[in-house]
Amino acid sequence: MNKFIIMEDFPKSEIEFDQKSSYESACYQYLFTMKWPQGFICVKCNYHYCWLSKRNIYICQRCQHNNGQLKKTSHLLV
Ligand SMILES: [Zn+2]
Repeated sequence: MNKFIIMEDFPKSEIEFDQKSSYESACYQYLFTMKWPQGFICVKCNYHYCWLSKRNIYICQRCQHNNGQLKKTSHLLV
């Protein structure tokens, strides 16, 4: 009986997790488009390729310039 309850709860929490993670990636996609409407461009050397660090900081692949962090704002979380 306990096993049945766990199986019933599992898909629900998985769906909630998927919705949350896809919503967050949509937020970052939106913020990226706001910051770089033509795609990534380094403010220092105009290079078009970047690395994305674990903390969502965009680092130029040519000069390693820190091009900033995309931060979720409160109105996007509502
Ligand atoms: Zn650069």
